[in-house]
Amino acid sequence: MTTETAAPPETHAFEADVSKLLHMMVHSVYSDRDVFLRELISNAADACEKLRYEGIATPALLGDDPHPRISLTLDPDQGRLTIEDNGIGMTAADMGETLGTIARSGTKAFMDRLAADAGKADSQLIGQFGVGFYSAFMVAREVEVFSRRAGTDAAACWRSDGLGTYTIAPVDLTEAPPRGTRVVLHLLDDAKSYAERFTVERIVKAQSGHVPVPITLLEKPD
Ligand code: ADP
Ligand code: MG
Repeated sequence: MTTETAAPPETHAFEADVSKLLHMMVHSVYSDRDVFLRELISNAADACEKLRYEGIATPALLGDDPHPRISLTLDPDQGRLTIEDNGIGMTAADMGETLGTIARSGTKAFMDRLAADAGKADSQLIGQFGVGFYSAFMVAREVEVFSRRAGTDAAACWRSDGLGTYTIAPVDLTEAPPRGTRVVLHLLDDAKSYAERFTVERIVKAQSGHVPVPITLLEKPD
């Protein structure tokens, strides 16, 4: 998978608040699992918007791929759903800062609210408090994030089962998108329908119709 010269993955523990949040989300406090897709699509669209903005000052970042896009790749045989964008991307350091911590002061309030509302959490809550990415663990037993930041020549992979630790490792450029981020969800047994066209189309129509970046549905990666 990685080249023989690549450094081994580094293992990190989630911030205590993230672990607590993951535990609460996964253990059915939060019932509307469909929202994970809205969250991941909105992150992909945000990344495209960040690239557009940075591309105004630094057009070279757009290279020969100036049009933002998001693809959803379904692999029902492997029980996998992949969300990919050609947005700003993340370095390994970015991943450590954003996908393991909760930098937001609203998080404590979010968790208090979740606890208070046990079983009937408001579907707006997760996005509102900016903990969207972690909702992936409501449907996935493992999440992998391959990313390459615009304008860089390095790629990295963040990987976790959501149970307390995550790893970050450099990967070969061929394993990441040429620019941007690929989020691979290895779906839980009771969430395999999220690799089916019917389900994914329905959710995208219902939740992500307003997204200003074209979304393409593909069957099976590679
Ligand atoms: P929010 O979107 O409210 O900041 P999230 O939990 O959804 O919170 O995402 C956390 C952070 O992870 C984002 O702010 C962003 O820095 C990073 N991130 C997540 N997905 C992507 C992506 N597809 N491309 C680039 N950065 C991303
Ligand atoms: Mg988000």
